[in-house]
Amino acid sequence: MAAVTDAPAIPDYRPVLDHGFVRLDAVMADDLSVVNAARVSFARHKDAMDASDEGLIRFLLRERHGTPFEHNSFRFHIRCPIFVAREWFRHRIGSFNEFSMRYAKATEDFYVPAPEDVRTQVGKPGAYTFESVEPELAESTRATLESVYRTAYEAYEELVEAGVAREIARCVLPVGAYTEFFWTVNARALMNFVSLRAAETAQREIRRYAEAVESFLAEKMPVTYEAFVANDRTAP
Ligand SMILES: Cc1cc2nc3c(=O)[nH]c(=O)nc-3n(C[C@H](O)[C@H](O)[C@H](O)COP(=O)(O)OP(=O)(O)OC[C@H]3O[C@@H](n4cnc5c(N)ncnc54)[C@H](O)[C@@H]3O)c2cc1C
Repeated sequence: MAAVTDAPAIPDYRPVLDHGFVRLDAVMADDLSVVNAARVSFARHKDAMDASDEGLIRFLLRERHGTPFEHNSFRFHIRCPIFVAREWFRHRIGSFNEFSMRYAKATEDFYVPAPEDVRTQVGKPGAYTFESVEPELAESTRATLESVYRTAYEAYEELVEAGVAREIARCVLPVGAYTEFFWTVNARALMNFVSLRAAETAQREIRRYAEAVESFLAEKMPVTYEAFVANDRTAP
């Protein structure tokens, strides 16, 4: 299956992993919306940011007055492996719509980590570190994944050809298969997502996606973003 959108040809697009991307499909977000949401308490309204507004944003973030950061919206189009989407969908504050493998044919794209991303897990639960493996093991891991993906996809196509419904045939596909979804989220929930998923403790693959969505937050709401970073990346 081709990507839902011909992603490389469109703006506001960040490639992620081997076949994925984050694309900002639409946005209604700026720092002024935070200021005006807060200042409505005093029946005040601003048309442009000044230094006192930047101070206000830093104060709101530091003191965890979170609701003024909710009057905005980022609509993302994301393409990622199913295992990344599963982690992503745990974030309940936001709206999702996903590509359906009941109605459309599954993608032929599967995630194969780059050699440097094939890693070993060292330590105890809660305190793992992930270290590179020898080049030979990295290559054989990649070859194993490619072979399993090929076999799985052939089985999927055979079942569909034989008349089995896509909703049953998809059972043979591994979680490395790519999926796509739309995610609409406000800056408060986005900061919460970034604080958890761009952190060292998050799995490397979703971290790459979190870094991509973070770059859009930084671009569209720079004062909010700077305050978030200064606040140890804690969401309000
Ligand atoms: C490193 C890491 C490891 C993880 N490992 C596991 C795991 O092993 N197993 C597992 O099941 N999950 C795991 N998770 C998922 C995690 O438990 C959360 O479900 C996920 O990170 C979403 O976070 P959230 O609830 O803050 O976000 P959202 O669901 O977007 O919620 C945002 C905020 O809204 C508020 N909120 C939302 N819903 C409620 C509610 N029902 N009641 C009260 N407040 C609410 C909370 O303040 C919350 O922080 C892991 C997450 C990370 C980052």
